[in-house]
Amino acid sequence: MTSGLFTRAGEPQALATALNLPYTLTTGQAAGTFLTALAGKRLLGSRCEHCQRVTVPPHDSCGDCGSERHTLLRMPETGSVTAWTQRGEEIIALIRIDGADVDLLHRIVSGDDLEPGTRVRATWAERPTSSILDLAGFAVDAAATSVGEARPAEAPGEVLRELPYRLTLEYRHAYGPYYSRLFDELASERRILGSHCPRCARVLVPPRQRCDVCFVETERFVEVADTGRLQAYSIIHMEFVGQTRKPPYVYAEIVLDGSATKLIHTVAGFDVARAKEILSIGMPVRAVWRKRSEAIGTLDDIEYFEPVSGE
Ligand SMILES: [Zn+2]
Ligand SMILES: [Zn+2]
Repeated sequence: MTSGLFTRAGEPQALATALNLPYTLTTGQAAGTFLTALAGKRLLGSRCEHCQRVTVPPHDSCGDCGSERHTLLRMPETGSVTAWTQRGEEIIALIRIDGADVDLLHRIVSGDDLEPGTRVRATWAERPTSSILDLAGFAVDAAATSVGEARPAEAPGEVLRELPYRLTLEYRHAYGPYYSRLFDELASERRILGSHCPRCARVLVPPRQRCDVCFVETERFVEVADTGRLQAYSIIHMEFVGQTRKPPYVYAEIVLDGSATKLIHTVAGFDVARAKEILSIGMPVRAVWRKRSEAIGTLDDIEYFEPVSGE
């Protein structure tokens, strides 16, 4: 194949997309207590009753000796920088709160020329949001020389138990020359392309560079029909993150006429409650295309496949 075949623009395309993972974070007793106290601008730690180690944030069990017996402590708001890393304006540092035996990881919100031992003081958020950022960070403060003292503290009455959380990973997925050409032709020509294997003579849809059976390079693009046969289907009742349709709907494997491989798409255009009566394995289906003016250049340019009646 020559590269001139790949896309109209001559460039492989890419999809800017994101993986979203929403979940609920269970804080646990110690971290929940710590976060609740932060909202009241109090920094808490814990002292292990067995080995006397002091940690900030407090721990449910001692990381050194494993003991679960500990005393909650109100910690001073001052400490020293032990290590840091900088990226642009952002500085993340390990801070040894006065009286603690381990470091706390947090932001340096103001001040530069850090050195090991630089004195810092806690800076609080103006409005609490029930997160670690209720403690906005630490500011360099040369005047924070007096080493404060940790003292026993009362636990807050109500402790934060759960936090809504969302991890988002943004990335660009390169279609590569084969998918780019497929999507380009779907949008502009309303035709579905596969690639032809010179050894087994099968047409692979979506088109790909190598035959998945013979492991040889495919040699040319071939247009296949927008009609085919239903090979298998599932009725989706469950809602989950990332769905583009509201359940219930039918997800199916379709073998397009002229192709040897299955395409995954939805089958619709009928009452899903009657799907088991209406659908049968091997039945003919055809593509229902999105309006030309609304073409987007993905497999969703086919809205769905519908059963062809009368056969
Ligand atoms: Zn201990
Ligand atoms: Zn082959």
